[in-house]
Amino acid sequence: MKQALEEIRKKNILSPLLVLEILKENPKLKFGVLRNFLLQSLKTQQDSIKRSNKKLTEDQNNIANFKNEIRKMKTTARNYDVKNCAACGKELQLPTVHFMCGHTYHEFCVETEGIRRCTICVEKFSQLIGLKEDYAAQRYDTERFFKSLRQAHRKFDVIADYYKEDLFADINLHPDQQTGPEGQNQ
Ligand SMILES: [Zn+2]
Ligand SMILES: [Zn+2]
Repeated sequence: MKQALEEIRKKNILSPLLVLEILKENPKLKFGVLRNFLLQSLKTQQDSIKRSNKKLTEDQNNIANFKNEIRKMKTTARNYDVKNCAACGKELQLPTVHFMCGHTYHEFCVETEGIRRCTICVEKFSQLIGLKEDYAAQRYDTERFFKSLRQAHRKFDVIADYYKEDLFADINLHPDQQTGPEGQNQ
């Protein structure tokens, strides 16, 4: 059994979830048999978490830089000597719209309904906000997992549920949440 599990793990034939789902039907099976398999699988996951954390630091730095830029926009004067429209790339002609980020558009290249926003920067900003929310949710998930694992009598079920959630994590998006730069207070 040990060898079979080792092969499954090395070659990544079945997900840990499927292994757990199959083996939990066997009432005679001891947890010890699975221990190494689970520990190694968790180690693989931890390595991936480490990589994610590295990416997180990078993204946090990006967010910090962006916030810094916003602060600069609010406090320093800017020279608008741009010659081309940030949207269509063609030469600027009046009337034009200038944004604090430094981007300039033809008036007809900017959304006229509601608050006018720099399309380029709004997109960049929403992506960063999205990343931040994703990471926050992931951190919460890990804490919740270890907490429920400590409290649970049937640890198999908790681990199986965890992998199950993880499998479908990408599908659980929140398309209705959008935040623009004007929603960000310093
Ligand atoms: Zn234009
Ligand atoms: Zn901009």
